[in-house]
Amino acid sequence: LAARESHEGDTLIEINSSRGTVKIGEGYCTVIAGPCAVEGREEYLDIARILADMGVHLLRGGAFKPRTSPYSFAGLGEEGLKILAEAKKITGVPVVTEVLDTRDVELVQGYVDVLQVGSRNMQNFSLLQEVGRTDKPVILKRGFAATMEEWLLAAEYIMAAGNPRVILCERGIRTFENYTRNTVDIGAVSMIKELSHLPIIVDPSHATGRWKMVRPVAKAAIAAGADGVMIEVHQCPECALSDGKQSLTLENFAVLLEDIKKLAEVE
Ligand code: PEP
Ligand code: MN
Repeated sequence: LAARESHEGDTLIEINSSRGTVKIGEGYCTVIAGPCAVEGREEYLDIARILADMGVHLLRGGAFKPRTSPYSFAGLGEEGLKILAEAKKITGVPVVTEVLDTRDVELVQGYVDVLQVGSRNMQNFSLLQEVGRTDKPVILKRGFAATMEEWLLAAEYIMAAGNPRVILCERGIRTFENYTRNTVDIGAVSMIKELSHLPIIVDPSHATGRWKMVRPVAKAAIAAGADGVMIEVHQCPECALSDGKQSLTLENFAVLLEDIKKLAEVE
């Protein structure tokens, strides 16, 4: 189902909201931005309003965070979902968040427009099937040790369960290089375009782990033909409860957004 031959042309995913329709695929460049995690109501609503005014298409924010250490901030859970829903109501911009566990799929889909399956869960087959039974678009991040074939077969699980609206997200893979958090596989963008009709976006934040690399890698992704980018942005990266080192300030994000508008077809 994910294979190029099984679909005529590229898949276009549309998400309706009070502001209009967000399109992902077919050459549109969709910009997803927001903090790594929803850290609090005031902070999130504040950044959501600013990002919405800048023209971001989709707001991100984790409510359930897959942290390497069990003692790190793991997100606000349902309270975070409520804040995301409120941000969407205020701004009219649809929201995306990660769902970590099959037991939370029903809860999460009640609050957000797009579900995200994270890198660590790319081969959690029961989770893939569960999100496959919803009617929400799913951003499927590439496992950091997954081949492109394994990634496409993970997409296949979601589609085989009944949900055709899958967006692939390249977020870097693990290599011997450890200066960066991951190694971004820009070539995957063109390869996936050849192998599949599904939209593919790139997350230069998790792919590099360093905010200074986010702008050049985002531009490279768009130049390579990605259907969008997902960027971590924080009012105060050094105060962030997670992923501050890879988060852009609002000022730096504004600079990147100008670059993106020059490079791509942005509605
Ligand atoms: C995220 O986008 O919040 C995230 C945890 O990313 P990844 O699954 O790619 O590590
Ligand atoms: Mn993050």
